[in-house]
Amino acid sequence: SMPSSADRKTFDTQCPFCSVQCKMEVTEERAASGARPVYTVVPKLNAASEGRLCIKGMNAYQHALTGDRILQPLVKKDGHFVPVSWEEAYLLIKRKFDALSDNGGPDTLGLYGGGSLTNETAYLLGKFARVALQTRYIDYNGRFCMSAAASAGNKTFGADRGLTNPMSDIPLAKCIILAGTNIAECQPTLMPYFTRAKENGTYFIVIDPRETGTTAIADLHLKVKPGMDAALAGGIQKVLLDEGLIDEKFVNERTTGFDDVRSSLESLDLGEIADITGVSAEQIRQAALAFGKAATAMVFTARGVEQQTDGYMAVRSFLNMALMTGNMGKPGCGYGAVTGQGNGQGGREHGQKADQLPGYRLIENPEDRAYIAGVWGIEPAELPGKGVSAYEMMQKIHAREIRSLFVMGSNPIVSNPNANFVEEGLKKLDFLVVADMFMSETARLADLILPVSAYIENEGTMTNLEGRVLLRPANRPVPGEAKHDWRILCELAELLGKGSFFRYESSEDIFEELRIASRGGIADYYGITYERLRKEEGIYWPCPSVDHPGSPRMFEAKFAHANGKAEMVPVPVHFPDERTDDSYPLNLTTGRVLTHYLTGVQTRRSHTLAARDVESYLEIHPVTARKHGVREGTLIKVASRRGEIVVRCRLSGAIREDTVFVPMHWGDTQNVNKLTNPALDPTCRMPGFKVCAVRVESLF
Ligand code: SF4
Repeated sequence: SMPSSADRKTFDTQCPFCSVQCKMEVTEERAASGARPVYTVVPKLNAASEGRLCIKGMNAYQHALTGDRILQPLVKKDGHFVPVSWEEAYLLIKRKFDALSDNGGPDTLGLYGGGSLTNETAYLLGKFARVALQTRYIDYNGRFCMSAAASAGNKTFGADRGLTNPMSDIPLAKCIILAGTNIAECQPTLMPYFTRAKENGTYFIVIDPRETGTTAIADLHLKVKPGMDAALAGGIQKVLLDEGLIDEKFVNERTTGFDDVRSSLESLDLGEIADITGVSAEQIRQAALAFGKAATAMVFTARGVEQQTDGYMAVRSFLNMALMTGNMGKPGCGYGAVTGQGNGQGGREHGQKADQLPGYRLIENPEDRAYIAGVWGIEPAELPGKGVSAYEMMQKIHAREIRSLFVMGSNPIVSNPNANFVEEGLKKLDFLVVADMFMSETARLADLILPVSAYIENEGTMTNLEGRVLLRPANRPVPGEAKHDWRILCELAELLGKGSFFRYESSEDIFEELRIASRGGIADYYGITYERLRKEEGIYWPCPSVDHPGSPRMFEAKFAHANGKAEMVPVPVHFPDERTDDSYPLNLTTGRVLTHYLTGVQTRRSHTLAARDVESYLEIHPVTARKHGVREGTLIKVASRRGEIVVRCRLSGAIREDTVFVPMHWGDTQNVNKLTNPALDPTCRMPGFKVCAVRVESLF
């Protein structure tokens, strides 16, 4: 017989596993009371996902509902975790924080956030650092995700929003460049926007050292050497210039700096560019002609271009390309940094970044400081100054300057480059607190673990890759003694004597303050309310007033700089920080697979997803494999100057012969970041994850 309605519960939520934020409905049914529940997931129609879900979304209930959640605070005693009450946990934190702060000052305390946190938690974490702890040291894993594109967007346009245009513009572009982005696996439900364009006759240029699900739609695949994207973009612009494909009117009216760009392009030699990028001059010409002659065109970049030691300038080069051809601020003309993390966009707007205050304000700007201090009810002088980027925090931990770290929603030991160094550092800490749902690789090292709620239990807003703010409802009870992350921050602030600054009863209360804090900033949320979000299908920032419809397409009339213009800049040729040699003869690049998210803490705990990809692997060209004596299906050692890992060898003609690929979703002996190079981009402090030099060896 059909189960009665009492045995059946249905709730709406949205997938946490990428920046599209697909909506879905989950139903839990029990055949008899006490029986194991069975879950069904149905995609829900929404303007962004258009009613699609990928395999990650279809299975996103598993880790939260059936995974081995941490349900009580756990303290480490003699190397083992034992449950404690929240009261004991909080008192321990207070005792440790007070002792460190009294001896070495508040800058001995560090906070480390994440791009999967809600806007409300990201906002509160920033406020907690500056008001409750008064430390300058806060940064987050988005440093590894969005920092290059964000700083390039801010400098070029005066504002950084992942996509300058709504996704519905994609099929309107006649030519699309996808550079260093594997949308088919990383944001699968976005792909139909591109396939629709393809059906309309759009010409696709895909730049990637590997063939992927995304290069499958390419009319032209430029199989670039890792790290040489900016030089390749320069070569394409050289041809645009030589062929007279510059939109002089747009350049004159809406940009500055083109004269310098022109002279730097004039000095480029296409043959040399072909040599250093590994892409033939003929293909570079073909790309330039297709792009330059298209009536409308869009450019997308992602981590392939951005996770480089020249990530900031590399993105600026692609922005130069869009601007000099006039492809900005019009239907079917724009730029997109394809965000990876669930709240990669919102997570970077509200102050969990070392140099930033809410609403994309700057911590070093006196007006911004005064405004936020006013909202928070403190004196501007009480606001700490600028801290350092995520990996630089790890260096300060190593040097024992930062003595305690509070991690919320992140797994830094797997996501930072040079992971062995990071692990050594975290082991030196006086006190490591990790707020997580699961016993992640970082949590295992903690002195104290605080159990937090999952996405299905925690209401809050997330901002998708288009800058569209969505309200994620929550209607599952929080299991065990777990708490909402924002609630933990409020209760801790109370204990630290700062409770009067943290009186919130719901995430909506926090959002109400965020609205005011962001008012007049670049990412202006003032006109967005929970009430509106419940009725509308998401609202694009900037949205300066409650009767404002939001801003799907940016820069139509002017850019966000004071003079209204976009700023172009010459981009010099740059080589990756680490080059191959006889000992380390291959380029290693990293990335994602379809079934996993970030360091895999959640997706490895979903039985369906874990079964699809149970372990990491190394992708290598058959010719290269033969040369180095490694065989298909065997476990092999991969070593760089910083460490080694053991993964299974997978032969594939899809990758360049001078390059190997390992995904980033596994820890311990499969943690690819034990190999990666921690050299940082000088401007945005993004590590050069996407190229380092390695060797491969058979284990047998
Ligand atoms: Fe949608 Fe991304 Fe989740 Fe897939 S991973 S269901 S594309 S939000």
